Amino acid sequence: MNQSSTTTDAGALPAQGGTGIRIDGLTKTFATGRGRTVTALQDTDLHTDQGSFLALLGPSGCGKSTILRILADLETPTGGEVRVDGKTPHELRASGELGIAFQDHALLPWRSVRSNIRLPFEVAGRPVDDAYIDELIALVGLQGFEKSRPSQLSGGMRQRVSIARALALKPSVLLLDEPFGALDDMTRQNLNLELLRIWSEKPATTLLVTHGISEAIFLSDRVAVMSPRPGRVKEIIEVDLPRPRTPEMQRTPEFHALVDRASELLFGADGRAAAEA
Ligand code: ADP
Ligand code: MG
Repeated sequence: MNQSSTTTDAGALPAQGGTGIRIDGLTKTFATGRGRTVTALQDTDLHTDQGSFLALLGPSGCGKSTILRILADLETPTGGEVRVDGKTPHELRASGELGIAFQDHALLPWRSVRSNIRLPFEVAGRPVDDAYIDELIALVGLQGFEKSRPSQLSGGMRQRVSIARALALKPSVLLLDEPFGALDDMTRQNLNLELLRIWSEKPATTLLVTHGISEAIFLSDRVAVMSPRPGRVKEIIEVDLPRPRTPEMQRTPEFHALVDRASELLFGADGRAAAEA
């Protein structure tokens, strides 16, 4: 398909220093019955560096989850090339290097919190690191709930279990689809900081879908702003804030300028939504 890494297309910025995420000319159409199709993604390019943090922002229906599901080997592309750190999604999944946490938390209802977080070790056939599971449970604030079943937890707590599970194998590639969507602001901010801490210890190539503009800027090296119908990457914002990031940075003029830039791309300079948000 389209090998457009030398064009000026916003998504086609060359990745430096590593392989990272390489999406070239990605198209995805879905059959919706009676011969109709929906073009979720059209000729989308997206490149990041290995071990970098990229956030995807965009209105509902612009194809964010479709990109993540393709990277996670849960959907097959209609056209185009997808590689992460040199591997196809299938190879990535088979090698157990992928950590995923999606909106639909997909916990196993008959398993306890601890047992759900242990699952990736079992699937990958690796020895269970109980000490690290304890650390993750503490990290997401679920101490005392180790033996609870998902049905006994709130929605936010279930999301925290799925984040802990995504991190269990210390993955080299992390795909997060609005993992903090249902959480209150304080919990969300704390989890963002914890996520940053874990990520700094072992930088995974990360793709985070979020509705939070500030959150996207705060966490990321790059923010890809998408436009809908058909979905494509409109512009990449380079976030040149230093690391480690601290909560105080969210009050600097540099931070606010980046948030303004992203808002402008999403909603237009006059504040009107370019599409339903
Ligand atoms: P986002 O995550 O940005 O809200 P999605 O990637 O979920 O968007 O969806 C992009 C478009 O593709 C939407 O129009 C959606 O209705 C359509 N779509 C996604 N998955 C399917 C599917 N399995 N079958 C049909 N249409 C789908
Ligand atoms: Mg989605």
